[in-house]
Amino acid sequence: MTQKNISAKKNCSVIQLGYNQYLDGSAIRQDFLETALKWISARDGIKIEDYMAQNQDAPNCNDIWLYFKKVMDWVKATFIEYRVIMKKVEWGILYNKYGEKNYDTKKLEAEIVKMLEDEDVTSSRGIYEYLFDGDERHLSIRKFSDKIKRAVYESQNKCCAKCGKHYPFEKMHADHIKPWSKDGHTTIDNCQVLCENCNRIKSDV
Ligand SMILES: [Zn+2]
Repeated sequence: MTQKNISAKKNCSVIQLGYNQYLDGSAIRQDFLETALKWISARDGIKIEDYMAQNQDAPNCNDIWLYFKKVMDWVKATFIEYRVIMKKVEWGILYNKYGEKNYDTKKLEAEIVKMLEDEDVTSSRGIYEYLFDGDERHLSIRKFSDKIKRAVYESQNKCCAKCGKHYPFEKMHADHIKPWSKDGHTTIDNCQVLCENCNRIKSDV
């Protein structure tokens, strides 16, 4: 099996089946194949080169092609609305972890719309990953500006909102009183300034 003979046969199919709209780069070039190989190797927990080596005597590339189709069909079935940002998502990596479960597609769509409309979500591509693992880091939640942090710092008389000790501005952290996950926004009324220690204690909870 070589990269060339897979891509020559399958590139047309990628476009005919509409899979290219879920992939970054041009499917006419070899990008789709590289992507599929990366995903299937990740599934098996091995490097791309090792996958190629293990399958060099395979009579054809059906393994990778069938896997790739399963990934793409899962994406199409799970997400009822198509969006261009979907091109940026590593679908195979998500499929490897979550592809066996059946999700409530309408509920997923409603959550996506809510996050797209949320000004505090600054990474729209991260929405899809967040839906599955709930890790807010994918969303790059907006941070408080220095202007807001400064205003709150002054209103707290330059002291930490938790322990009440005085610290210089640079040593303080602007914190969401109500976390984003509980509908707290990045607005001044939801901002408190904490010292490093109190901020760390709060983050660990
Ligand atoms: Zn403190």
